[in-house]
Amino acid sequence: MSLSRRQFLKRSGLSAGGGTLGGLVALGLDPERARAATVPLEWKIERTKVVPSICPYCAVGCGLLLHVRDGKLVNVEGNPDSPINRGTLCPKGAASYQLTVNPNRPTGCLYRRPGGTEWEPIELNRAMDMVAERVKRTRDATFRRTATVEGREVTVNHTLGIGSLGGATMDNEWNYTQAKMWRGLGGVFLENQARI
Ligand code: SF4
Repeated sequence: MSLSRRQFLKRSGLSAGGGTLGGLVALGLDPERARAATVPLEWKIERTKVVPSICPYCAVGCGLLLHVRDGKLVNVEGNPDSPINRGTLCPKGAASYQLTVNPNRPTGCLYRRPGGTEWEPIELNRAMDMVAERVKRTRDATFRRTATVEGREVTVNHTLGIGSLGGATMDNEWNYTQAKMWRGLGGVFLENQARI
């Protein structure tokens, strides 16, 4: 059926400024049926507890609102009250829901032995001890108090034997502590992504 704009308004009862649902039904546009077909059975954030948080991905520190239902995270969105992002999120922050709710995300430590071809699960405390043992051993073996620079012997107190590469989920406080600890050990090569 083809209708002119004038005919549509006349038959739908909207032309006089007092629009009626009856006119829409007469056109086969039943609002109740349309609503039932489009409204989700349960709104995404219905019956949720809202928890303010901070995006973990970079040092911008955008504010998040986490929606939790029955103890489970069901939605993450920007916090409109945050003076930093005012409710907006970059694509990475907008995908932060998947940082928590993701069946493909490893949640334990994995270790591949020297020369090994398979990853094996190990306890977090054991992994931390192994990292500490290797850092100590390498630092002791490579630490230099002095070095020759342009023909002169100068104090350097550093090690060139270890590097530290940080991930994107470290916050400012972690980065500060990491830098202090690493410089204290004499580390020179220190890099973290979280500096946007
Ligand atoms: S990753 Fe994006 S959303 Fe997260 S803090 Fe940085 S800029 Fe903000």
